[in-house]
Amino acid sequence: MICTACSCLCDDIEIVDGKVLHACERGYKHISRSKEQRAKAMVNGKEVELDKAIENAIEMLKSAKSPAIYGLDTSTVEAQRIAIEIAKRLNCYIDDNSSFCLGEFVEAILKKEVPSTTLEEVRDKAYVIIYWGANPHQSLPRHMSRYTYYPRGTKRQRGYDEDRYLVVFDLRKSETAKLAKKNARFIQVQNDLELVESFMKALEGKAGKFEVASILREMKKAELNVVFGGLGLKYGLKGNFRVFIELIKKINEIAPLYFIPSGFHSNMRGFNESLFEIVKAVNSYSFSSATSSPEFSFIELLKRDKIDTALIIGTDPLASLPFEVSSKLPKLKKIVIDPRSSLTAQISEVVIPSAFSGIECGGEMIRSDGVRVKLSPISKAEIDDVYVLKRILEGL
Ligand code: SF4
Repeated sequence: MICTACSCLCDDIEIVDGKVLHACERGYKHISRSKEQRAKAMVNGKEVELDKAIENAIEMLKSAKSPAIYGLDTSTVEAQRIAIEIAKRLNCYIDDNSSFCLGEFVEAILKKEVPSTTLEEVRDKAYVIIYWGANPHQSLPRHMSRYTYYPRGTKRQRGYDEDRYLVVFDLRKSETAKLAKKNARFIQVQNDLELVESFMKALEGKAGKFEVASILREMKKAELNVVFGGLGLKYGLKGNFRVFIELIKKINEIAPLYFIPSGFHSNMRGFNESLFEIVKAVNSYSFSSATSSPEFSFIELLKRDKIDTALIIGTDPLASLPFEVSSKLPKLKKIVIDPRSSLTAQISEVVIPSAFSGIECGGEMIRSDGVRVKLSPISKAEIDDVYVLKRILEGL
């Protein structure tokens, strides 16, 4: 089966005699504890039949003055497309976690502003592997062992200490940074823009704050080098993402360097691509204004009291958003569709149980590098996101 606990979407998981094999600890827990803390159909805190919960959800959405749809990063592409249809029908906002995560990185790739590649290509050919503001040891536990640093690739046969050059840029000496020893570099960076500037100067043959000319020299030796950008890079750039894009373009004039975003929910890229196919934007979209804008992100809508009703799918904003934002949630009407009884579900007017994508229902997800993956669930639930969202769409 495919593990759907992170965007690596590992495809080598086996269940033998009830035991989960090959998964990392995070994947193991995701699969083996999927029966715990399950959501039940509820309306105003009382358990009800599923149909009644769905009917209440439809009525709430019909009477909403300014609704928003939020979440969907662990739903399948099929479910995401129906949710986008609902947003279109309601002429409302739609957003996912990528608006404060790596959505702009994915958007740059979809717009072909930066060259990108697949994890298989990285495994087979990559020499310089840069983790910039990313700590896969925590966020993508098998990223390095399956695809990047450790595996022997068809053109990288001699192992990680001879045939790979690991580079880590981070604010602190993360677990991943501690691996950067032989044939590797770790640079502790407080200001990522200074690091970008150092690269730009090195490209002109000048010295900058950080010594990076040696990394460029290593890149020139290979046919494929890659930079994985994480949340540390996003926030380290302080909104200046364009300078990073310019840097990747400049480096590509002297050595092949590809970019892959790293470290997010299993199907965040699926949401970005599904929305992009329809409206040419990856998140924070308003169908009423027919445009995407940071002010239409779910966080900004909450902060500015712009919505009265939220349809929340497979995410737990009460637990995950900063308090100044999540404290606005009790003021809204909320419909939650989730396999688990999340904190947000516990304060919501309507709760609709669903299935875990990849464990109890199939469909398609898109890995962090854009590769489409067909899920192979171990059981088949009757009620999943697609079923519930289709019923809501029909009811509207
Ligand atoms: S790395 Fe991610 S997808 Fe792979 S087993 Fe671990 S949690 Fe699951």
